[in-house]
Amino acid sequence: MAALPLLDTHGRVHRDLRISLTDRCSLRCTYCMPEQGMEWLAKASILSADEIVRVARVAADAGITTFRLTGGEPLLRRDVVDVVRRLAGLESPYGPVQVAMTTNGIALAPMLDDLIGAGLSRLNISLDTLRRDRFTALTRRDRLDDVLTGITAAAGSGLRPLKLNTVAMRGVNDDEMVDLVRFALDHGAELRFIEQMPLDVGHTWSREAMVTGDEILAALGAQWRLEAVPGRGGAPAERWRLHGPGTADGATVGMIASVTAPFCGACDRLRLTADGQLRNCLFSMHEFDLLPSLRGDAPDDVIDDVLRRCIWAKLPGHAINDPSFLQPVRGMNAIGG
Ligand code: SAM
Ligand code: SF4
Repeated sequence: MAALPLLDTHGRVHRDLRISLTDRCSLRCTYCMPEQGMEWLAKASILSADEIVRVARVAADAGITTFRLTGGEPLLRRDVVDVVRRLAGLESPYGPVQVAMTTNGIALAPMLDDLIGAGLSRLNISLDTLRRDRFTALTRRDRLDDVLTGITAAAGSGLRPLKLNTVAMRGVNDDEMVDLVRFALDHGAELRFIEQMPLDVGHTWSREAMVTGDEILAALGAQWRLEAVPGRGGAPAERWRLHGPGTADGATVGMIASVTAPFCGACDRLRLTADGQLRNCLFSMHEFDLLPSLRGDAPDDVIDDVLRRCIWAKLPGHAINDPSFLQPVRGMNAIGG
């Protein structure tokens, strides 16, 4: 018999578990981490592959149908292919699960065949600029060529849909919106713009520096005619079909306007941090600790109970736009974006 759905008090059924494999990263994107002085999660608290797979198995039994591996940089985990293989073998009451990944792409090219062979079904690769000097300033590492090699490999693989994520920043890359969309289309990918959120470890976010979804759409609208794609469901991105120069049928762009147009009402996501904390929202101030259950001799029922309690406690929405908003203690790299 199917388990009761993973329901919260606002009627949202949860289907998507984001799993952060590590808080470490090969880049230092300004909107995510400071250049120096990071306090990393204690190594002893990092979940093993067995522990991750156990949580995922209980979650799949309870109705989670998609796992997205993230971080930090998920490809820094030595056992990432094994984790993908074991997660991809799980079944939910609705059928086989999907395993997706969000990566900065740097280590992707040499690992891609193994990841696909292990059952990876979807990829999001982050790309904020096509200019090497900007990339180096923005990520504090001169690695654009590696990212582009990763994107080229992904484009050449059968993995679709392929998505590229861009955080738009005023005076940094906001003159590249059209170029980035064209680049994505040339690589058989959909570009998804993400509004910058107050989640960076250094607390440098400001509303003024954030480029809004409307501003980005206005820039794209000067180039193409945009037609809203219906049927967004619980997806964070609102999607637009592009009509005009250089676009084939089916060319689309996505907009994740988390700050100016929150989509919390349809959210179906929860998160597992690399150190075993369940979070019901990116902006949660409270975490549900799975480590004692995983490292003690608790049965699966206890893990299922923590999952359900975490989801049941979910607030109707984030409060970024409320004067009382407080940024969570964890930065994006340790939450899992
Ligand atoms: N390292 C991988 C990467 O960059 O794709 C995965 C983890 S990263 C935290 C996941 C996504 O979160 C990336 O697309 C990144 O651009 C985005 N991100 C990080 N900090 C953000 C912020 N403050 N606001 C909006 N998006 C952010
Ligand atoms: Fe690393 Fe991703 Fe954060 Fe950039 S956004 S520093 S790639 S975790």
